[in-house]
Amino acid sequence: MPSENDGVMIVLSSPSGAGKTTLVKMLSKMDNYEISISHTTRQPRPNESNNKDYYFVNEGEFKRLINNQEFLEYAKVFNNFYGTTRTPVIDRLNKGKNVLFDIDWQGADQIKNKKLDYKLITFFILPPSKEVLFERLSNRDMKDKLIAEERMKQFERDVLHWINYDYVVINDNLENCYSRIINLINAEISNGSKDYDLEYIRNHVEKLTS
Ligand code: 5GP
Repeated sequence: MPSENDGVMIVLSSPSGAGKTTLVKMLSKMDNYEISISHTTRQPRPNESNNKDYYFVNEGEFKRLINNQEFLEYAKVFNNFYGTTRTPVIDRLNKGKNVLFDIDWQGADQIKNKKLDYKLITFFILPPSKEVLFERLSNRDMKDKLIAEERMKQFERDVLHWINYDYVVINDNLENCYSRIINLINAEISNGSKDYDLEYIRNHVEKLTS
């Protein structure tokens, strides 16, 4: 049974290139915070290891997990499947650990709709400007400007989901962004006052999409 001492679920989503994965790793360094490791059917990147960054599985295994109803949420993102298995998450929450989820908007929606008895805080991370985003996306794939342009188009579709999150945080500077997230988490947990300006965010999204 969920209780007062249970951990909190903290979801971070963002369009590609906003720096979310780095932020999740920074947050996981805090005492009592752990990252939920997802299953995926995508191939590992050279710097990634199995059971640490992801559980890399084939489509057959992923479908078996779906059929066994082991996923708390799952989604298809860029032609690959990604999902969060339920048991490790619930076990950690019951032990009082706060669980961090680096998942897309589809997964965030699914977790929200489950209305579990655990506290859930959702964050959407945005880049400071279109120019910075384009620069970040181009740096990842120096060879191919077209890829960056394609991702910019994807960004314009993904950004529309900001409205479904509790908080939108702009990643203008990693340290500042990290502090803003921690302050909001602490304010949520202690029911304290929140330093959050929705109008400012609305204007920022308008600038990013105009
Ligand atoms: P990447 O392939 O770059 O690691 O991740 C691609 C996208 O999939 C990112 O937006 C990431 O947050 C999302 N993602 C990673 N794991 C999961 C998961 O378990 N569920 C969902 N819904 N999305 C995930």
